[in-house]
Amino acid sequence: METCDALIVGGGPAGSSCAWKLRQHGMAVTVLDKATFPRDKVCAGWITPAVVQALQLDTEAYARERVLQPITAFRTGLIHGRELETRYPAAVSFGIRRCEFDDYLLQRSGARLLLAQTLKTLEKRDGLWIVNEAVAAPLLIGAGGHFCPVARFLGAKLGAGEGAVTAKEIEFEMNPQQRADCRVRGDAPELYFCRDLKGYGWCFRKGDYLNIGLGREGNQGLAEQLVDFCDFLRQRGRIPGNIPDKFHGHAYLLRGYSGRKLADDGVLLVGDAAGLAYAQSGEGIRPAVESGLIAAAVAVETGGDYRYQRLQAYRERLRARFGPELTPAGGMVAGFLRDILAGALLGSRWYTRHVVLDRWFLHAHQPGLQ
Ligand SMILES: Cc1cc2nc3c(=O)[nH]c(=O)nc-3n(C[C@H](O)[C@H](O)[C@H](O)COP(=O)(O)OP(=O)(O)OC[C@H]3O[C@@H](n4cnc5c(N)ncnc54)[C@H](O)[C@@H]3O)c2cc1C
Repeated sequence: METCDALIVGGGPAGSSCAWKLRQHGMAVTVLDKATFPRDKVCAGWITPAVVQALQLDTEAYARERVLQPITAFRTGLIHGRELETRYPAAVSFGIRRCEFDDYLLQRSGARLLLAQTLKTLEKRDGLWIVNEAVAAPLLIGAGGHFCPVARFLGAKLGAGEGAVTAKEIEFEMNPQQRADCRVRGDAPELYFCRDLKGYGWCFRKGDYLNIGLGREGNQGLAEQLVDFCDFLRQRGRIPGNIPDKFHGHAYLLRGYSGRKLADDGVLLVGDAAGLAYAQSGEGIRPAVESGLIAAAVAVETGGDYRYQRLQAYRERLRARFGPELTPAGGMVAGFLRDILAGALLGSRWYTRHVVLDRWFLHAHQPGLQ
């Protein structure tokens, strides 16, 4: 049996960030992932500057061999509605490709990697977590995304009774004709909201790659709305006529709508496993990275005493940073009023810049994690 100080299940941004930080404190860390890396992840691939800062990413070095698309503007509006362009004097976000980004972070973490290995068995014996009867550790980090097996072990009812967001997207390399026909600019991703404001579609160009998708609360009507959204983009001449039609879907939880247990004796959940994505934008990479780093900091501070009482600090810090696990119901704008407001507010330049973009999408009011 192999032993280590911390065993992390899942090598996405949450797991690799946590591994990176624990390694900096001299801990022996193993990351187990069912995929071989580089692997893709259903995602638009948009990161905010807070992610770059928290990860101390050397953007110049990163961009030398990978896609890093600076974003200095957004086109926004309602699907089938009027569009607005909002410009910024400098880059306010970046476009990355998850197959490159996740692999880069995982390799950089310095952890021992057990890839192409699905978690099959998990038990606790003599104070140690034992995974697949092959690795043992006193500290277990569940970073396996929405369907994380460690979250299941802690009692999460994966896929049942949880109000998840569902989303579908494609990302493909455009051929020369498609590049010529695509009017979406790399520096200006396009975001178009559903009329009921329960979701939005995006169209995002990163170098020669185009990423198109739509995400909504629940999964009702997702396929139809996606078809309608692509038709709308074609009618407006934004995208080439012949895009691939094999969209990939995924679900995840938003902070404020997830009651998952986040910690127990010797175990913490991070990233999507903990249901941390921002509610208004669905941005999940920043919360994944930040929760991974916070989990590592809390673990180090315990000095190796991983009893629940000591790990509870993790829950408190997530609350302070991301708000309560469950937002009280009742504060939402009634459906019909929301429709009327949507059209009016998304046509306002002030509201679009200061509320929709700066607050909901860029979280400019919340400084990066120190
Ligand atoms: C369509 C869509 C678009 C999105 N766009 C954005 C965006 O533009 N920007 C943004 O910030 N967020 C976006 N998100 C959210 C973002 O993708 C997630 O919040 C983020 O990937 C969470 O990272 P993570 O490390 O927690 O999980 P993941 O990235 O899902 O990584 C989990 C890892 O665990 C591994 N794993 C799972 N089960 C097992 C198992 N049983 N055994 C071993 N390993 C396992 C998986 O192989 C995977 O590598 C989007 C989500 C969707 C669905």
